[in-house]
Amino acid sequence: MVLPDFDPQTHLAELQAGCQALGIPLDTQQLAQFELYYRELVEWNEKFNLTAITDYTDVQTKHFLDSLVALPLVANELGESIPPTRPLHLLDVGTGAGFPGIPLKIAAPRLKVTLMDGTGKKIIFLREIVAKLGLTQVEVVQGRAEELGNDPGYRGQFDLVTARAVAALNTLVEYLLPLVRRGGYAVIYKGASAPQEFIEARKAIDLLGGEMERLAPVKVPFLDEQRYVLLIKKQKPTPERFPRGQGLPRKKPLG
Ligand code: SAH
Repeated sequence: MVLPDFDPQTHLAELQAGCQALGIPLDTQQLAQFELYYRELVEWNEKFNLTAITDYTDVQTKHFLDSLVALPLVANELGESIPPTRPLHLLDVGTGAGFPGIPLKIAAPRLKVTLMDGTGKKIIFLREIVAKLGLTQVEVVQGRAEELGNDPGYRGQFDLVTARAVAALNTLVEYLLPLVRRGGYAVIYKGASAPQEFIEARKAIDLLGGEMERLAPVKVPFLDEQRYVLLIKKQKPTPERFPRGQGLPRKKPLG
């Protein structure tokens, strides 16, 4: 497919510079993976409507760099280098076309990653892109967070559970915290509403066994919008009754 606005040499140098600003090293193989990811995303988008953003510069800032912005924070919190060397197990809930899970896996190849979404066509794309990028230790699962949170194969199993643009924080914590192992973290990507959403989710976080460790304003390279990364540590087991069924986390958020 011809991509008139995409100039690999210039653009990939920009991506590398953006990552450098975040303290994330990328080698030529990783840059080639981001290039292929971009090409596949745009091509599949023609049929599958995976993202509203297709211009390279926008994908680079709003998807790739935005997804990577949590990596230094998490590494720092865990006392790990960037990328972390431990094979941490990360679950990305509502990953859509793979954000933030796939950029994190490309930048931190030692991570074990589970990509999860409720929508079948996203799953088809994800399986294809994981194979094309040659990513190993990546599992793709179709499911809903509320259901996996009650499945013993998933509940309490993950060091890190990420989500971007999936739900309001008071709903999201009921999706994520049951899946986090004790001592692990929910890693949540939010925009300017984060401080207000935190106030509305305080009680839910407490009920679910979590504790807010960081509500960190972050700077996404080349992007002039406010972003936050929230690190919620799971201090206590989540009570058995959560997550609730029948869409209640969304219809009647805790709090
Ligand atoms: N995280 C991606 C996609 C955001 S769109 C990004 O930042 O670009 C929200 C995605 O979450 C959709 O793909 C939708 O299918 C999925 N989703 C929403 N609620 C969900 C739930 N309860 N369980 C699993 N997936 C969910």
